Amino acid sequence: MIAQRIEQLLKEIKTLSQGKTKLIAVSKTYPATIVKQAYDCGLRDFGENRVQELLPKHETLPPDIDWHLIGHLQANKTKYIAPFVQLIHSVDSLKLLQEIDKQAQKNNRIVPCLLQMFIAQEETKFGLSHDELFELLDNPAFANLQHIRIKGLMGMASNTDNETQIRKEFKQLRSCFERAQNNYKNIANLDITELSMGMSNDYRLAIDEGSTMVRLGSKIFGR
Ligand SMILES: *Cc1c(COP(=O)(O)O)cnc(C)c1O
Repeated sequence: MIAQRIEQLLKEIKTLSQGKTKLIAVSKTYPATIVKQAYDCGLRDFGENRVQELLPKHETLPPDIDWHLIGHLQANKTKYIAPFVQLIHSVDSLKLLQEIDKQAQKNNRIVPCLLQMFIAQEETKFGLSHDELFELLDNPAFANLQHIRIKGLMGMASNTDNETQIRKEFKQLRSCFERAQNNYKNIANLDITELSMGMSNDYRLAIDEGSTMVRLGSKIFGR
């Protein structure tokens, strides 16, 4: 059953995005045995939102999985994922970036990160505002970080059925993305190519608005 769902999803995402959008399978709360089934269907990119859950899965599942951290990261947990994490989607402060940079350096790595933007109407979600994003990118302390690479932006739209609202939020994120892409060329630790937006309920809209990574959990693994 999971094999069929994955096959259909991959086909659909490929068609809708003309091959420009990657599927990140969000495996949080699902046991490693189920994640392995998705792996056996060919998926290699998996996302977790908690470090405590990511670590045991990283240890038990095949080593060629690319692990994405998509949930809020506490600075003191950074050291556990710095040796292997493929992409941190949820960076929303300079302070956290500085800690990631420090831990990446210890591991002799450059850790790819996305800056998480706040685009939803809800109050609870983490993320930067438009102004905070550009303040961060303009901060001289940011330019000094040599062991991180900002690959783009991530955002979560409001949890609503109102398509107009969701589209508006994705457009807002896309416009920050384009502004960052166009105005911050030739900066060593910036390479803005990824726009991580779209979850099970809104990935079609997200792809339509230019997403390069959709993060799907329940759509793949069920509820
Ligand atoms: C859980 C989660 C997802 C996946 O949500 P679904 O609705 O199950 O697809 C995507 N992104 C983040 C940040 C999440 O926490």
